[in-house]
Amino acid sequence: MTTLTTPLDDAPLGRLRGAVRGDIVERGDPDYDEARRVYNAMHDKYPALVVRAADASDAMATVDFAREQDLLLAVRGGNHSFSGQGSCDGGIVLDLGRMRGIRVDPEARTAVVQGGCTWADVNHATHAYGLATTGGVVSSTGVGGLTTGGGMGHLARRHGLACDNVLAADLVTADGRAVTCDEERHPDLFWAIRGGGGNVGVVTAFEYRLHPVDDVLGGPVFYPLDADVLRGYRELIAGSSEDFSALLVITLGPPVPFLPERWHGRPLCGLVVCWTGRPEEDRRIRARLDEVGPVLGSAVARVPYPVTNTLFDEMLPAGLHHYGKGHFSPDLSDQAIDVHVSYGAMTPSLQSATVFFPIDGACHRVGQKETAFAYRDAAFSVAVSPALTTRAACEAAVGWVRDYSAALAPHCLQGGYVNFMDHDDAGRVRANYRQNYARLAAIKRRHDPGNLFRLNHNVAPDAMS
Ligand code: FAD
Repeated sequence: MTTLTTPLDDAPLGRLRGAVRGDIVERGDPDYDEARRVYNAMHDKYPALVVRAADASDAMATVDFAREQDLLLAVRGGNHSFSGQGSCDGGIVLDLGRMRGIRVDPEARTAVVQGGCTWADVNHATHAYGLATTGGVVSSTGVGGLTTGGGMGHLARRHGLACDNVLAADLVTADGRAVTCDEERHPDLFWAIRGGGGNVGVVTAFEYRLHPVDDVLGGPVFYPLDADVLRGYRELIAGSSEDFSALLVITLGPPVPFLPERWHGRPLCGLVVCWTGRPEEDRRIRARLDEVGPVLGSAVARVPYPVTNTLFDEMLPAGLHHYGKGHFSPDLSDQAIDVHVSYGAMTPSLQSATVFFPIDGACHRVGQKETAFAYRDAAFSVAVSPALTTRAACEAAVGWVRDYSAALAPHCLQGGYVNFMDHDDAGRVRANYRQNYARLAAIKRRHDPGNLFRLNHNVAPDAMS
């Protein structure tokens, strides 16, 4: 494998330069440092080249170049990978961040979204038509990684995961070809990009199904960190229509005006609510929130839907140090709740959180084997994710995450969400794909036998399935 210490051959590099309409950033270029950086500051890597692709043709040329030069290839969408896989040492980064075009078809209720878009881009474009699809709850997260890994968000209970709303995708495969995949065309690739991560190619555009979602009742409401509150949350979700969703967040009280000062910096629970049902029922929903536990502060209000996906943005700028683990909880048992309460009390910083995403409802109406996403039997996806301002503080929090995760494991399904895995979770890939691993490995063997797309939660083509 070629690395930075092996100078790249001038002739092929010259051909790449001639082929690419976007730009190519190399070591020594003024914007190299900015181009090589990833969102999670725990990962500090030095690629030989960053290709900022302008279009699918640039992606094809870059894939060909990486394969022919035997270079490590990192594919980057929104750059939010916990494990820092949007960059690499000595290889090439294919950065899709300039491919941000979106075309909404309001009649068909679909949107074609380029692979470098963020959820801020999608929500902005579709909200103008009173439409939306399931996406991430931090607006700077990319559609690329989130959708190919599954994709949880506020609309998941009613409309399924992000990947469940993909109708078709344009993909560049390891041989540098561009294909369109859907239920009819390349159905194996279409299956694999819906949960299988970036294992089988570069998605240059997704076509999503959209749903009528306009203004919603949304925002945060805070409670003490208490087992009764978590039980109240479990019952709230189980007893609510799919038009209601709420993330539960165990964190430290943020310094916001609607939370009394004595709670700032203290462990507590927050619900981040999203009610897409009739405004006439807002009062009933608010009453249900009051029943979860003693309310410490609330900013729940009628807001445009995109706002519900910006509430963490300010707390989580690029450049913090992150480490994470993901779990799937079948039922949020009382025993699991006890684990959450005791470890949640040790949450290390304001930006750190344990986040529960409800993924029942429409997510369960898709079969276990219908897409590569393997957890149609989970009621909640749980991410334990500290974020800290220094590397040393983050390293100090790793033990907390590992102990917390070990204590949760007996109460969770085996494996976890690939999008919440960190760099030390490579050994969990098979467990994370459960019953779908063998099919994914077979598709990988067929379409990427050389494992060009390996900087991901990698399904190795030569793995015994
Ligand atoms: P990148 O770092 O750009 O990509 C991650 C990986 O995805 C790449 O290594 C590559 O393998 C693959 N990839 C990216 N783009 C493409 C593409 N176009 N084609 C093929 N493969 C591609 N997850 C949720 O489900 N719901 C959430 O609400 C949510 N919130 C998050 C909030 C924060 C602050 C963070 C850090 C993560 C969050 N996640 C969430 C997890 C998120 O889904 C993953 O981190 C995901 O990988 C991010 O995708 P990206 O495109 O931004 O990242």
